[in-house]
Amino acid sequence: MSGYVKIVVAVDLSSESSPIIAKARSLAADNAELHLVYVQEPMDSVYLGVVPYGPVFVGMDQVEGRLKDELNDKLKALGREFDIPEDGLHFLSGTPSREIHRFVEEWDADLIVLGTHGQKGAQLLLGSTANSVLHGASCDVLAVRVPERD
Ligand code: AMP
Repeated sequence: MSGYVKIVVAVDLSSESSPIIAKARSLAADNAELHLVYVQEPMDSVYLGVVPYGPVFVGMDQVEGRLKDELNDKLKALGREFDIPEDGLHFLSGTPSREIHRFVEEWDADLIVLGTHGQKGAQLLLGSTANSVLHGASCDVLAVRVPERD
């Protein structure tokens, strides 16, 4: 038993989320609370392409609302898959690393679990969510190695 009792699992809702949650579950003490956190980055407008009279953007309200519904459904499906109640599912808005730090401090978590693709070279210099969360985290961080995305 690891002793971690307040575990925050950061999920990007891609297919890599399930193995990351499974790893967190395997580390959790019997009485541990597992919280899933997804952070949606706000967009001002969506670029639709260039037509003869210039680039076309659509207002984000509609698109963002629809996207939010779809992503929320995915978060709920993960909750069902891992038997995590709705009050353990957190759909936040903002910059992922900043919101994850804020949530962890607010909730006084003792472990953050997230995925990493083991970036090298330029990717490392550009940073990643895992790097940003690791730097400045107020508790332990477990980066679960997941396969490279296509
Ligand atoms: P990335 O740095 O984008 O390759 O993502 C690495 C890991 O960070 C993912 O496997 C998730 O655990 C976490 N992550 C990435 N984006 C988000 C997000 N928008 N909300 C919550 N966690 C995220």
